[in-house]
Amino acid sequence: MKKKAVPVIIAAALLATAVGCSGSGNAPAGGASTNAGGGAAKPDAGAAKNPTIGVAIYKFDDTFMTGVRNAISQAAEGKAKADIVDSQNSQPTQNDKVDLFITKKVNALAINPVDRTAAGVIIDKAKNANIPVVFLNREPLADDMKKWDKVYYVGAKAEQSGTMEGQLIADYFKANPAADKNKDGVLQYVMLKGEPGHQDAELRTKFAIKAVEDAGIKVEKLAEDTAMWDRVKGQEKMAAFLASHGDKIEAVFANNDDMALGAIEALKAKGYFKDNKFIPVVGVDATAPALKALEEGTLLGTVLNDAKNQGKATFSIANVLAQGQTPTKENTGYDITDGKYVWISYKKITKENMNDAK
Ligand code: BGC
Repeated sequence: MKKKAVPVIIAAALLATAVGCSGSGNAPAGGASTNAGGGAAKPDAGAAKNPTIGVAIYKFDDTFMTGVRNAISQAAEGKAKADIVDSQNSQPTQNDKVDLFITKKVNALAINPVDRTAAGVIIDKAKNANIPVVFLNREPLADDMKKWDKVYYVGAKAEQSGTMEGQLIADYFKANPAADKNKDGVLQYVMLKGEPGHQDAELRTKFAIKAVEDAGIKVEKLAEDTAMWDRVKGQEKMAAFLASHGDKIEAVFANNDDMALGAIEALKAKGYFKDNKFIPVVGVDATAPALKALEEGTLLGTVLNDAKNQGKATFSIANVLAQGQTPTKENTGYDITDGKYVWISYKKITKENMNDAK
């Protein structure tokens, strides 16, 4: 590590000097050699006008992140080159991709970490190379965020989505007394969790139940397991819950829509959603298939996790940083909290307002 760091630092220092002379902002993507011949460095207009942003997504095969990824590409159109790569759910693979971006001298990085606790390593790499970095969707630990001033995070407040999910179920219970199937005044529920350790999995789980309790409803957890954000796993876990608890289950919470949709499949196989046999299922994201399920009346509700604005904001912050500027509300269009964070709001979605999520 130490051995490698030296040339990187020298290269970064040389680049910083060249950039300092040219006044063109950050290191130009792939354009370092243009200035290497000595003499007065010419401003590399291309770098400022059309920077390259290296984007690493934790894995392409994730419904929500596909939406964010598409939003980043769209936002970049005509403004910058977004070089988007798949980390294939492996942190070592992502670290290699980041190294490659650094070798290519991208102007900014946008990273959706595989393991959010590994963000510190990426920050060290980025800082050594003086390439600003925007994290998204998987929030680095606060201590890591403080390591460098050119580190940003774009995401949504996980507890807010959990609270909204809980409110959807609480409202349903209050409006439909028959939902308390065994009439014991307690809501028996199962929870399908996302990836353990992911802030959205931990906080949605906690705050969804808190919101139900805050609404004055007693709860009993029949089962909880992770389905890793995945639809097929959601179906398998729900089938297992049904095998052990059957019709005792009165509500299904899922940390995201894919798992909720998997659960709905398992419930359909047990005769739910026909002949007046209903059970409230809630998710988060408001993906297109989830909206279809809302329309069909299988999914009770979801929470809009605004992929479009998360992608747009990520690009916007990265692009401003790539120009060597400091992101502000004026130059990005987004409020920046504590000098580092962009929070995109969630929104409760039911059949009634589903057009808001389209
Ligand atoms: C989304 C999930 C997604 C996860 C990926 C969450 O915010 O709700 O659908 O799988 O992010 O990190």
